[in-house]
This record gives sequence, structure tokens and C-alpha cells, in this order.
Amino acid sequence: MTVPAGEAFVMPTYVRYPVTIVRGDGVTVFDDEGRAYLDFAGALGATPLGHGHPRWLAAVHAQVDALALVSNLYATEPQAALAARLAGVLPILDARVFFSNSGAEANEAAIKLVRRWGLPKRRIKIVALEGSFHGRTVATLAATGQPSKRAAFEPLVDWFVHVPPGDVAAMETAVGDDTTAVMLEPVMGEGGVWPLADDYVQDVRRLTEERGALLLADEVQSGTGRCGDWLAISHAGVVPDVVTLAKGLGGGLPIGATIAPASLAFGPGDHASTFGAGPIPCAAALAVLAVIEEEGLLANARTQGERLRAALTAIGGPVVEVRGRGLLSGIQLSEPIAHDVAMAMLDEGVLVSEAGPDVVRMSPPLIVQAADVDAAVEAFGRALKRAEAMP
Ligand SMILES: *Cc1c(COP(=O)(O)O)cnc(C)c1O
Repeated sequence: MTVPAGEAFVMPTYVRYPVTIVRGDGVTVFDDEGRAYLDFAGALGATPLGHGHPRWLAAVHAQVDALALVSNLYATEPQAALAARLAGVLPILDARVFFSNSGAEANEAAIKLVRRWGLPKRRIKIVALEGSFHGRTVATLAATGQPSKRAAFEPLVDWFVHVPPGDVAAMETAVGDDTTAVMLEPVMGEGGVWPLADDYVQDVRRLTEERGALLLADEVQSGTGRCGDWLAISHAGVVPDVVTLAKGLGGGLPIGATIAPASLAFGPGDHASTFGAGPIPCAAALAVLAVIEEEGLLANARTQGERLRAALTAIGGPVVEVRGRGLLSGIQLSEPIAHDVAMAMLDEGVLVSEAGPDVVRMSPPLIVQAADVDAAVEAFGRALKRAEAMP
């Protein structure tokens, strides 16, 4: 592999794997030397249709030819169609959508939305979970329950209180008359792939209702079918007040969405985004939603996810536990060797990501088939042996 010219000029915010990807096709990507890799990193969940899905490509090509951008001073057909489609598909009643370009922006908008609602009622506090990840902007970083990511930037906004996930008593103590919202990831992705227990999510919903606070579900990673439902929180039968989507929604193009009932919606001047919901990402997202529905990808996410987790669990040894839902899986290892395993997987021709030093994450495209799953599991068994043999 070669490092692309200019790489040294990129700020090194990511610890990169030593490979340069140049092309993709379905669940496979190719490096600059033509070597193929099974893409179980799946752009951290942002490529639900894999690479170059014909429906997605056709939609994007047609939209590039027709119109790229006019600003949000004008209505466009793809934006209106996507808002209506999301309102139809999500469980939120009388839903309205604010579009942006990323997960952090979707959460930033959601935080502004609940704050605007709460301030006149003197509700100023947002309760979030320890270990959560909500983004890297100033407010979403403050929401993120990982002190190591916040440390270099403190003090941040002081609106957030963090409680341990799964602890109902701690939540009962934290949610009071001054609480605007509880913010949670139904499956905590970056923090190590921890699905919240259904009864815990139900308890949080009940508590927020009793105490007059909102429930904000960050479904940036877990939503758009990733966990086998349009929203992962539906597994618990819970309907949140506000939902954010991003990663998978554009099928590879940047788009974020903040969805809330009309009673909470922003009005003129409250919020804005120059690129938000441009015609191209909206056309792409409409194709994503259509293909997920037409190709039965919610069911496929459930089936292949269960196949993957069952086979990985059977490996045993350093594999302590395999957590997840749908096609978002975290392999808990007994030692902090996730990076070594990911490097060995690269040698095996499979891309995976890490969700902490001892968790390997797999979030392949929702189109993945049983043969791909089996190949990735076999590679994982071999990679584990090699990583264990490393000094
Ligand atoms: C990735 C992620 C974000 C941030 O999304 P960006 O598009 O990287 O800004 C926020 N919340 C969750 C749960 C995420 O997984």
C-alpha cells in the first residue's frame, strides 16, 4: 500500500489503518493495489446499501444532473419528499423534520430544540448516560459521557448531568423539575456497543413522562434500520419525543435529521443550515429508505446480525461476549487487543472498526449475505489467533 500524496497535510485526528481505499462494490472495497476487502467496518454504519447500489447511484446521478443546491430559501422536491417519508416511517406523531449534514449537527439541533422548549419552564438540565457518544461539537461533546474526549476542552456548557446506564435509581435521582430531557443512545455504539435493556428504556420513558421531561433518542448510529428496526428504540416498544438520525440515512452522503412533533418544532430564524437537506443527499436518502423497504433489509439486518453474533460467540476463548442488535455488533475481548485484532483482520482481507481498546465492532452494510457473514467469522477466528500470538 502507498500513502496518498498530501496525506501529511491532513490533521491526524484519526489513527488510520495502513490502507488506502480507492473503490467499492457491494460489501467489498478495494485498495490502491487492487486488493479486495470485505467491508464490515461499513463506514461506521454509514453505508447501509453497501457501495454503488444501482438504485442509490441512479438517484444520485439524476439529482446531480438536475440540481445540486439552491439554499434553504426555496423549497425543493427531494427535501419535502424525504421529510414526508420520515414522518411516515417513524413512530413520532405529527412529526416535523429539521435537516443538517451530520450526527453532531442533528444532536446539536435536538439540544437547541429541547432547550428552547425547557427554558421558559426553568428546565435547564439534560440528563445523559456515562459512556455515551453524541458528537464532537461543543454542546454534543458536553453531552458525551466520556471524560477523556472532553478533557482538553473543559469547561464546556454545563447543561449536562451524566448517570450510569441501566441504573434506574440513578436516573430517578437525576430527573427532576429542572430537567429538560433525557438523552440516550438505545444502543451505545462508540462507547463499546451496549444495547440498553428494554425495561430500562421503558422505565426512563415512564420517568420522563411522570416528571414532565422530554426523551431524546440519539439514533445517529442505531437508527435507519441498522438494528433491525427503523429506530432501535422500537425494540423496547418506546416512542421518544425527539429522534436524531444521520450516519446510514444518506447511504454514503452527508445528511442529519432531527425529528420532533410539530408542538416542539423550530420556527423561522430559530436554526438553519446552508447545506442541510440539499437535493443530492435527500435524493440519496429517499433511495436508501426505498431500498431498505423493498429489499426487506430490516429483516435481513436481524437475520444476519443473529447469525453473526451466534457464530462469533461460538469462537469462545478471548471472546467474552458478543453484544449488539441487528447489524451493529460489538465483540468484547478479555484483553485490550482490539487494535491488534483489527490489524490482523486487515491482513485477512476484512475491514472492522474498534469501539474501545477491548471491543471490535462490526457494522457491515444491511445488504450483507450469509456467505459474507461466514467468511468474516472465519477470518475473525484466524485473526484472533494471530493477535494473541503478537508480543
Ligand atoms: C457518530 C455518532 C454521532 C456523531 O455523528 P457525526 O456525523 O460524526 O457528527 C453522534 N451520535 C452517535 C450515537 C454517533 O454514533
